[in-house]
Amino acid sequence: MSELENSGYKEAAIEALKKAECDIGDIIKITSKGKNYEGILIPRSELGDGNVVIVKMKSGYNIGIRVTAEVEIEKVGKGTKPAFASPPLPKQNPSLPHVVIMSTGGTIASRVDYRTGAVRSAISASDLHGVVPELSDIAKVDTEIVFSLYSENITQKHWKELAETVAKRIESGVDGVVIAHGTDTMAYTSAALSFALQNLSVPVIVVGAQRSSDRPSSDAATNLIGAVKAAGEAPFAEVGLAMHESVSDIATIIHLGNKVRKCHTSRRDTFKSINGFPIAKVKDEQVIMLTNQYLRRDPSKRLILKPNFSEKVALIKFYPGLDPAVIDWYVEKGVRGILLEGSGLGHVSKFCFDSIKNATSKGILVALASQCIWGRVNMNVYDTGRDLLSFGVIPMDDMFPETALVKLMWALGQTDDTQEAIKLLKTNIAGEFSSRTLPQEKILEGGQKSGN
Ligand code: ASP
Repeated sequence: MSELENSGYKEAAIEALKKAECDIGDIIKITSKGKNYEGILIPRSELGDGNVVIVKMKSGYNIGIRVTAEVEIEKVGKGTKPAFASPPLPKQNPSLPHVVIMSTGGTIASRVDYRTGAVRSAISASDLHGVVPELSDIAKVDTEIVFSLYSENITQKHWKELAETVAKRIESGVDGVVIAHGTDTMAYTSAALSFALQNLSVPVIVVGAQRSSDRPSSDAATNLIGAVKAAGEAPFAEVGLAMHESVSDIATIIHLGNKVRKCHTSRRDTFKSINGFPIAKVKDEQVIMLTNQYLRRDPSKRLILKPNFSEKVALIKFYPGLDPAVIDWYVEKGVRGILLEGSGLGHVSKFCFDSIKNATSKGILVALASQCIWGRVNMNVYDTGRDLLSFGVIPMDDMFPETALVKLMWALGQTDDTQEAIKLLKTNIAGEFSSRTLPQEKILEGGQKSGN
């Protein structure tokens, strides 16, 4: 398949390159203003000027040439496509726990193509195993590619496919599952899996990396080793999310899949437990449990798979001056659920009241989580909250908006009946809300100063 389509070229440039039958990696000659430039055609940033063709010259420098009617492009040699030969797979030890690593894409499954300089989502779970041979000392590793996507492209359909794939593996008797995933929406996926995979018998650990696995500063190996260790040996049977505990490579922390959020754009310890504590950490090849409040690993448990998620759900963030017509627009679009990201203890402006009443009167499930992120909504304190409750708005306790949104999608994926969905929303399915408010200081630390 031509790599031109995803290479960042647009309009005149892509037309001219197609006409000359050039593909990424080919050696091309560009004639512009009487001068010839010869080199390798490389992909370009989608955010740059897509009409400027980028060529890597023999000298190693890249040059950009704007394509105009006068510019000629000729293919002078077929390039070798960027290829990655994965290292041979290490020997397996059959006496170790059996762990399957699934790849879904993202930075953890990316590498830099040093010839063209682009980061590609290009390595599979099996390549990851080859790149991190230590995994074979921890588990008997099986690998499977589920999809190869940056996580911003993952949707409810992918959650379903992933949950079904995990279920098959658990039913076939593996000791644990690891899912390599892009970090951007990794916490949405781990929350989704926590609702879709109930009564787990073994751990399911979602893991990512902030730097691709071939960079010296990569966090991929530490995170993957921690995730595989926990999947194979930890005593819990929950959906967890494994990432660096701190900026250094010392430990991997395992958060509960629906109580965790990406909090920093680039730090390796970007994930923090919110309104809850991490469940375990992996340090010096040991799994250290940080709590005794967890569901136990138990091979005799039968998995309950509930993988459907409604796509007809909207998230509306309240802000001063929000135009309530946004709510009306979603109602007209036929959504079945709206999650309001309210202010403080659970409020939106009274200017939105008519639109909210209209939505609930049409059987649309309107729920509310706080944009404060930490803490719990309490809609009984102010009259605004009480009014919203009287319109049928459902408070989402101490769930932060992303988990509340995924839960709303899941609840509406289980039933067509709004009242049934409300019952599901109010039921604690996978530890997504705590009945008891945890001590503030601990919560604000993300529970990570546990003294272990
Ligand atoms: N955008 C990437 C993704 O989420 C970033 C990452 O993997 O960390 O897939």
